[in-house]
Amino acid sequence: MRAIVVEQVGSFSIRNVNIQHPGAGEVMIRVSVTGLCRTDLKLIRVGHRDLVLPRVPGEEVVGTISEIGTNVSRFSCGQRVYVYPGTSCGKCSPCKAGAENLCKNMRIMGFHRDGGFAEYVLAPVESLIHIPDGLSDDTAIFAEPLSCCLNALELARLSKGETIGIWGAGPAGRLLCHGASALGAEPFLIEPDERRRSLANGFKKPPRNGFDVCIVAVGSVDAYKQAVSHLNPRGRVVVFSGLAPDAANLQIDFNQFHYYEQTLVGAYGCSYRHGQQALEFLADERVKVEDLISHKMPLWELEKALELVEQRKGLKILLYP
Ligand SMILES: [Zn+2]
Repeated sequence: MRAIVVEQVGSFSIRNVNIQHPGAGEVMIRVSVTGLCRTDLKLIRVGHRDLVLPRVPGEEVVGTISEIGTNVSRFSCGQRVYVYPGTSCGKCSPCKAGAENLCKNMRIMGFHRDGGFAEYVLAPVESLIHIPDGLSDDTAIFAEPLSCCLNALELARLSKGETIGIWGAGPAGRLLCHGASALGAEPFLIEPDERRRSLANGFKKPPRNGFDVCIVAVGSVDAYKQAVSHLNPRGRVVVFSGLAPDAANLQIDFNQFHYYEQTLVGAYGCSYRHGQQALEFLADERVKVEDLISHKMPLWELEKALELVEQRKGLKILLYP
């Protein structure tokens, strides 16, 4: 099969690789669509904390089961599935608390094991989720990024009727916005980049006082400073987007958090149950994503797609092997 292979950080090649057969508790999936995200750009161009080389990247996968290994029940050939990208130990305290994304033994598809930038991908059966009938592959692929948004909104303890300021109108920021609306909150997108702003409508004047939740979906120190300064008493600010290592050490006024009983909370990745929740939200159209797809391209045009992400010229890019 053809696959995108990263052998060393900074480049990738399109190669023919052998198709393996699924082992016990595994299935082989024919990839129908894979999503490109900023993390893939980072992984290929500059590497990533969790990356083990050589690697086929791709952590957003929707496809059809083409072969099943032994000890596989609940799933059979021909079924459409979404793959939750993580595999965890299931025994440690984060796993038991439903936060398997924090498991020390977390293994992520596209980072520790081969991912979906290929014609086929192997996946353990416990990471599969059925795609409801009537939900298209192109919509279901948003389950992964939406899961990460739902995890962040859960950690923000966002509730109905609250206001939420979202910094960064890229695909993640907009998906957070849709997710927040689905939860009954009132989102406000904040985008300093005029070209990005022109790609979307629906920007409205933020409330004169602050937000109940502020979430930063852009790797910008200024955005974090603004978010902290726009927080209501008892407000929560979510560290959703990482910062470059030399920028991450920014100063914040802890007394503000003390006097106003505010919370600073991090969010990274998602758990399996967020995948199930995301697919429900997509299937019953509580979250609509058509306006987030900017490009549909063959996977083999990955270089062109990466440049679009790099130059922030697109929104969500879907790739087809
Ligand atoms: Zn664990």
